Amino acid sequence: TPPLSNLQTRDIESVLHPYTALHKLKSTGTLVIESGKGVYVYDTQGRGYIEGMSGLWCAGLGFGDEELIDAATEQLRSLPYYHLFGAKGTESAIELAEKLKEIAPVPISKVFFTSSGSEANDTQVKLAWYMNNAMGRPNKKKIISRIKAYHGVTIMAASLTGLPYNHIGWDLPVDRVLHTDCPHYYRFGKDGESEAEFVQRLVKSLRDLIEREGPNTIAAMIAEPVMGAGGVIVPPMTYYAAIQEVLDEHNIILIDDEVINGFGRTGNWWGCQSLGMTPKTISAAKQLTAAYSPLGAVMVPEDIYQAYVDHSAAIGTFGHGFTYGGHPLGCALGVKAIEIYQRRDIVGHVRMLSPVFEARMKALNDHPLVGETRYCGLVGGVELVADKKTRRSFDPKQAVGPQLAKILEGHGAILRAVGDTIAFCPPMVITEAELNELFDRFEKALADTEAWVSKEGLR
Ligand code: PLP
Repeated sequence: TPPLSNLQTRDIESVLHPYTALHKLKSTGTLVIESGKGVYVYDTQGRGYIEGMSGLWCAGLGFGDEELIDAATEQLRSLPYYHLFGAKGTESAIELAEKLKEIAPVPISKVFFTSSGSEANDTQVKLAWYMNNAMGRPNKKKIISRIKAYHGVTIMAASLTGLPYNHIGWDLPVDRVLHTDCPHYYRFGKDGESEAEFVQRLVKSLRDLIEREGPNTIAAMIAEPVMGAGGVIVPPMTYYAAIQEVLDEHNIILIDDEVINGFGRTGNWWGCQSLGMTPKTISAAKQLTAAYSPLGAVMVPEDIYQAYVDHSAAIGTFGHGFTYGGHPLGCALGVKAIEIYQRRDIVGHVRMLSPVFEARMKALNDHPLVGETRYCGLVGGVELVADKKTRRSFDPKQAVGPQLAKILEGHGAILRAVGDTIAFCPPMVITEAELNELFDRFEKALADTEAWVSKEGLR
């Protein structure tokens, strides 16, 4: 390991790094990024990396986009800040809400703005409770999520998340949150079980859970169409339609977490359109502004909105809102990002590239370390396994996925290890040549990781 640079030392001394193996930080150091252009980011030594994850699944238009920079500058000059509390408004928030309604996959009446995806999902839960109180259903409050879901890190969003490191040591999940099965056939399908039988088993399990808890105690289910941080899990195509039947029977609304999926990532404007899901309400963030500014949104239909109006009439006001929810900078960037997605036909570009993405993913399946590859549009995952035949995983303490990601940095590319699945989520503006280059670099890292695994005897 080379000695740490001055900036790396200062970084480790003063910054508490999220989702980081803190106990290893002094030996791993940090990668301090200084600038970005197109699909590349550059560290403080001037080394370039293909950003194969769009940062955190968000910088879908890449880095240094002059149109977005101009839109941000213009907004900061005219109105750097205002809010929406107490019946105030801003033009950028109005325009963005209108745009979102126009492109929404289901009829939407109102858009509530937050600063992040976690806040959007937290708000979804509060709104579901508020709605049911307004409708005289005070016991209908539990929320169903899924094992391996990722919905954020506020107390409620982390509770909805279905990953152990978001719960263990954090006194979570809180009450009122239930986790049902993860729709990952490769991992959770039983020997000899067909994909259709797997879906039926999950449907039965969901039905049993609802009946056990009491349908009148359950307000909503939340789901990411393609599950992201839990390992880029693409459910079977029949899954959502099948579980929605059960939810509809019991008047349980479906909250669609489009925080990663939204804005073209899966080859449609919305992930729900790629996976056959028909949501009631939607959370968006990340690519909403192409990550040029924080912003989240909750989108709700008219019938739900009317319940808030009734409650507001009874209590006196709608008591929820964030200082920076609907920040003019974020909203101006959201308007511009959507305009760019439309004008440059980003969905068309993702569709054009997805066969290349799929072919390169499929070609990895023969590698001894690769258990399964998964993909939808321009988001994918490569699951590393110790034993291909039995699907046995490595011991998480061996940190094989993170080691591959570290080795890959040496080859000039950044991908994210979510456990032992390596996630791919390149900027949607990536060219075919750049995409191939990303996979070429990944293949080199995979070969180096195989050599390391064999040398260390990790199998
Ligand atoms: N929902 C999903 C599907 C996410 O992937 C994330 C973040 O990765 C969130 C919610 C939380 O968003 P944020 O980190 O902006 O709070």
